[in-house]
Amino acid sequence: MLTAAWQARDPSNALFVPFAPRGARRRGSFGAAAMSARRFDVVVIGAGPAGLAFALSLAPCGLAVAIVERQPRQRLAQPAFDGREIALTNASVDRLRRLGAWERIPDDEISPLVSARVLNGASPRFLDLRRDGEGLARLVSNHVIRRALFERVDGAPGVTLLTEERVAAIRPDEHAAHVELESGERLRARLVVAADSRFSATRAAMGIATRVRDFGRTICVFRVESDRPHGGIAYEWFDYRQTVALLPLNGHRCSVVLTLPNREMRRLLALDEREFDRDVERRLAPRGRMRRISERFSYPVVTVYPSRFAAERYALIGDAAVGMHPVTAHGFNFGLLAATTLAGEVSAAASRRDDIGSATVLRRYERRHRLATLPLYLATNGIVELYTNDAPPMRAAREMLIRVADRAAPLKALLTAALTRGAVG
Ligand SMILES: Cc1cc2nc3c(=O)[nH]c(=O)nc-3n(C[C@H](O)[C@H](O)[C@H](O)COP(=O)(O)OP(=O)(O)OC[C@H]3O[C@@H](n4cnc5c(N)ncnc54)[C@H](O)[C@@H]3O)c2cc1C
Repeated sequence: MLTAAWQARDPSNALFVPFAPRGARRRGSFGAAAMSARRFDVVVIGAGPAGLAFALSLAPCGLAVAIVERQPRQRLAQPAFDGREIALTNASVDRLRRLGAWERIPDDEISPLVSARVLNGASPRFLDLRRDGEGLARLVSNHVIRRALFERVDGAPGVTLLTEERVAAIRPDEHAAHVELESGERLRARLVVAADSRFSATRAAMGIATRVRDFGRTICVFRVESDRPHGGIAYEWFDYRQTVALLPLNGHRCSVVLTLPNREMRRLLALDEREFDRDVERRLAPRGRMRRISERFSYPVVTVYPSRFAAERYALIGDAAVGMHPVTAHGFNFGLLAATTLAGEVSAAASRRDDIGSATVLRRYERRHRLATLPLYLATNGIVELYTNDAPPMRAAREMLIRVADRAAPLKALLTAALTRGAVG
């Protein structure tokens, strides 16, 4: 693990003790070693969808970009299905189109999400979210998005991919960030951008405090075939003791997103395949008969929001910047937004021949991204808090809110905007 490797460094060697007090760091001999460092304008840590999108966004401005990724190249080129179906907003589809990635996604891998119904417990009433003339989003599997972005990045001019590599230390100074990889290779760049997941190890090592919210729940995702047509309707069913989302995929297929308290999910996942299917059939029975047709994958429900999106010559994007709860389907949409916003600031600085890693550039990015993401981040956590509280008075409040929201046009419009554009307020 990166952090462990970091700590394992010889603390007597100031050079490799990351983020030692300023004076101590400046006395280190990294300068001499940096003579042999490979030079880039930007080093991106993590070739997930956010890191790849950011590197691609920079391609037009002719900067030299290195992407450091711990996975092997083959796994990036042919990513495996991971159960995640990503609801992409229209803005995200446009961004992917501009990056040349959307055209690489086959039509039959894109499922329209026409409308969404939010249900509470056993109540027959629901909140119906839709937009006249337009669908709410388009669903594409995470691995398909990753593959499309990788195809565009692979061989793109100015982009160097360093796979099966991890960052061991970063030392920023007035002129550059010096990056040491676990293989011993050294890189020098004007800016380091971390897209190394919501559990980002470099974020902590750079001294950025992060608000982590562990909901004590686990998500299990898998595909099913249903006995009835879904009409492109997604269901978000806040049942008691469980939350079930059903996402419509092409044909009669759906993606099931089942959320349970950790202990209950552990028990469910320990069942053999047949017992698991029987248990899940019972849980989904009110929504129709469904047959599982894919492997199952699980993810912990942990959201993160750092106190800052930047440090000296270092910026966070993707889940490393905003780790959303999946219920409002905005993690990657925000990841793409971060990639576009930061790339815009960096390109503008480059065209002015300014320092692309300066505090001014990073501050502007941070301000814009915080404004765009914090309201929905807080609202999403609040909704989850309310709709996973099964106490009797809360059950009544949950039901009332759904009824009111379904009748109050402005509130409904606000919720639809939150789902489709990430805008709240
Ligand atoms: C069940 C589920 C459903 C979701 N649904 C939606 C949705 O509908 N809409 C939506 O917008 N979002 C959704 N999301 C969120 C979305 O999947 C994430 O926001 C997105 O995948 C994050 O991309 P990323 O590139 O920031 O991080 P990741 O995909 O986590 O990629 C991080 C990369 O960094 C690499 N890495 C990590 N540490 C290091 C290191 N030290 N050195 C080198 N490399 C490193 C990793 O190997 C990885 O390749 C969902 C998430 C889940 C779990």
